Amino acid sequence: MTRARWIVDAGLVLLIALVAEAAVAAAEPLLLAEDGATKYRIIIGKAASDAEIHAARELALFLNQITGAEFPVHRDDAAPAQFEILVGRTGRLSIEQLPPQLRTDNWEGFTLFRDGSRLHILGNIPRATLYGVYDFLDVELGVRFLTADVNHVPRRPTLAIDFESRKFAPRIELRAIWEVLGGPSIVRNRMNGQAFYIPMEKMLGGVKRIGPKTHTFNALVPMEKYFDEHPEYFSQIDGVRLRPTGRRHGTVTQLCLTNPDVLRISLETIRGWVGPAMAENPYNKYLVNVTVNDNAYFCKCGPCVAVNTEEGVVEGGTKMRFVNAIASKMAEAYGPPPTSSCRSSRCRISACRSTIHRMNRIARASKRLAGGAKRSATAHSMPGRAWGPTVLPAISTPAPTFTTSPATSGS
Ligand SMILES: [Zn+2]
Repeated sequence: MTRARWIVDAGLVLLIALVAEAAVAAAEPLLLAEDGATKYRIIIGKAASDAEIHAARELALFLNQITGAEFPVHRDDAAPAQFEILVGRTGRLSIEQLPPQLRTDNWEGFTLFRDGSRLHILGNIPRATLYGVYDFLDVELGVRFLTADVNHVPRRPTLAIDFESRKFAPRIELRAIWEVLGGPSIVRNRMNGQAFYIPMEKMLGGVKRIGPKTHTFNALVPMEKYFDEHPEYFSQIDGVRLRPTGRRHGTVTQLCLTNPDVLRISLETIRGWVGPAMAENPYNKYLVNVTVNDNAYFCKCGPCVAVNTEEGVVEGGTKMRFVNAIASKMAEAYGPPPTSSCRSSRCRISACRSTIHRMNRIARASKRLAGGAKRSATAHSMPGRAWGPTVLPAISTPAPTFTTSPATSGS
């Protein structure tokens, strides 16, 4: 047996031992604190990223608020101990050593792995590790991140939880809310967008929009540039290529999406946006928005109507074919799509729900509660809905106890 072979085998034996120990110990509650004191410490890698350091600080912050105990943060070059919560990649255990059924290839997926009295929070990327921490605090410990500066934190000086290893893979890649008051609660609720921006982008990366943020048809094929020479690029309505003017009708129309030159020009425009933006951040995904202008002047020319009829819709068939054509061409240039739940195409469907001002209402209600007013704060539209069904149900009733937490756990 070669030395290399022996090392691999040893790894497998170690893994089997870890799994067996975890299975035996899983029946016992995880006693994280007792009477406001803890034996636990939080471990991060010697070369932990800023995001992993932040994740450890956030965990320590909220565990302290829950239990009153101090959870120190150490690097993994400290000698292993029995009571450790390991955050991110450490020398104790790698993602590759996890049992296959507890691993996910989802970009933002993570695993909460119990190894006897130890707990590992391991994400595929640093942002995912941070989400794993928040998911543990929320789902397992009952912490609710309600607004930028108001959280619901249960008080439990003795904190014993029944916990078994699990994994989580968010199925929605871009989880954004159109609010301005979210602050850190955006990330704490495992969102990766706020309006068109990425909260904490430098540290965490995220789904980054390239080019104009939305309603991009006129940016793809500007009417001001092309209409005079090529009115056929634009919507035909009642037999006329439409160029609306005036505030009431807007200043742009839609594109004639069955015109091949419209696709060609759109691709040239998009390539111009993508090139300089790529590789800014290794933890970014890049998103090009291909969406209609903000009006309903869709093309009624013969070929467009024929496509929509063929697709069985009044509108939208031409749009889907157009977007898919762009996605296919971009895939030719940039290779297969990155790991995700949607492997067949680089095309992503974005669903937009009207949630404007709901966070504001929650903020106002929570401040009233914090001031003693006897009103319930309903949180039925909290952003956690996009994360998963386990996050929300316990938020609204009974009315939670609101506490004020620091906006962040440190620099
Ligand atoms: Zn048309």
